[in-house]
Amino acid sequence: MSKERKLTDIHVHLDQYPPEEIEQVLKRAEKANVRWIVTSGMDLQSSERSVEIAAAHEQVLASVGIHPWVTAEDFPDNFREELYSLARRDITVAIGEVGLDFIDNVFTGVTYHDNQDLRQAQEPAFREQIALACEVSLPLIVHCRGAYSALPSILQEEKAYRVGGVIHNFDGDEKTATQLLDMGFLLSFGGAITYPTATELRGTIRHIPIDGILLETDSPYMPLFEQSAEKNEPANVARVAYALAKLKEIDVEELVEAVYTNFRNLLSIDA
Ligand SMILES: [Zn+2]
Repeated sequence: MSKERKLTDIHVHLDQYPPEEIEQVLKRAEKANVRWIVTSGMDLQSSERSVEIAAAHEQVLASVGIHPWVTAEDFPDNFREELYSLARRDITVAIGEVGLDFIDNVFTGVTYHDNQDLRQAQEPAFREQIALACEVSLPLIVHCRGAYSALPSILQEEKAYRVGGVIHNFDGDEKTATQLLDMGFLLSFGGAITYPTATELRGTIRHIPIDGILLETDSPYMPLFEQSAEKNEPANVARVAYALAKLKEIDVEELVEAVYTNFRNLLSIDA
């Protein structure tokens, strides 16, 4: 791969590492030629922490937002004021991670009787945060699990195309991919594409144009198949790049260059 530092990781959670590990994680990312990392909040506290970590590290940018898992349980009353002030910080480049998750969740212990309950809890918070993104003119980092039937129409109704954004860890079908790309959204891919069971997803990715693609690790979560026992980290975005380039049957340098351009265009970064 090129010796230039052009890899980008659009979606990680640096606040989830013990503070003393962050420096080493970032050092290894730099060694792997990762130029930019966007660290996302999931609630007010982690959003604040993301801004803090980004402000302290040259290669890290912040995204702030309330994750659908949290909105389903507890959507803080004071979120507007605090989230707005975090969104207006210079180091904040996106609103996320926000979105919809209609699948019962063993991790958080959130279970519902049907999709309707989940929608009622999550949809207003998602819509409100799309409005926030539009107000502060920042793109969205969207989490979508089991909710592709609802996502495009909500983005359309809230005119989210005014700011655009990325659907992180996209795993919808080809038709949904086209709808989202047409609305000006990018689709990002991480370790999930390396799992033997992901044949359908790999089939879809073959049809997605390179100018619609971003790379991510979702660290410390979502490890690649061959390292599923380990904690994930942004340096591994290099391995995701190789896997995706192989899938698209293009040179890895070509892919990295294209993604670097997509990333900087989305976040309005010159460097
Ligand atoms: Zn995430």
